[in-house]
Amino acid sequence: MEYYSSHISNLIEQLSRLPGIGVKSAQRLAFHIMNLPKEEVNLLASSMTQAREKIQYCKSCFTLTDEEFCPICRNLRRDQNQIMVVENPRDLAAYEKTGKYEGVYHVLHGAISPMLGIGPDEIRLKELMQRLQSQEVQEVIIATNSSLEGETTAMYISKLVKPTGIKVTRIASGVPVGGDLEYIDEVTLLRALEGRVEL
Ligand code: ZN
Repeated sequence: MEYYSSHISNLIEQLSRLPGIGVKSAQRLAFHIMNLPKEEVNLLASSMTQAREKIQYCKSCFTLTDEEFCPICRNLRRDQNQIMVVENPRDLAAYEKTGKYEGVYHVLHGAISPMLGIGPDEIRLKELMQRLQSQEVQEVIIATNSSLEGETTAMYISKLVKPTGIKVTRIASGVPVGGDLEYIDEVTLLRALEGRVEL
């Protein structure tokens, strides 16, 4: 890419490192950014730095938030006895959009994948178990994706939690195999939640 100035090449290279952005998209974005008014570029850049600096993990459910505890965990109307375990904050957002789930969440930040070398210690499982020990919980709803990794993780969690006597359920199929929760419509998500089965 020597036919671009080194600054533009650098921008294209940085953008192409983002997930889902190939070189072509990166070029398109880079030239779009070059054509924006300077103030807009500053806004874009500072929103990225600010988000990265201010955002932290909720001390209870580990979703991303800008305070010690996220708004869901702080909400006294949410049922703290019911914990839905999801792989990432996007899945949490998908269930929140249905507006029907009244419990709280636990965000694992990944799923167990022997293929990718991601073991139980690499995701927020220990934190889930600590949480189950320190607070009264009636049900753990496992809402990991229906991919191989999601199913492996669900089985693993179920084995860990069941001996504690807490009810463990898994959201129903209806969520397509291999499907990421974040791309599934709200009706299907609700049906999967309502049709959850005890493990
Ligand atoms: Zn939280």
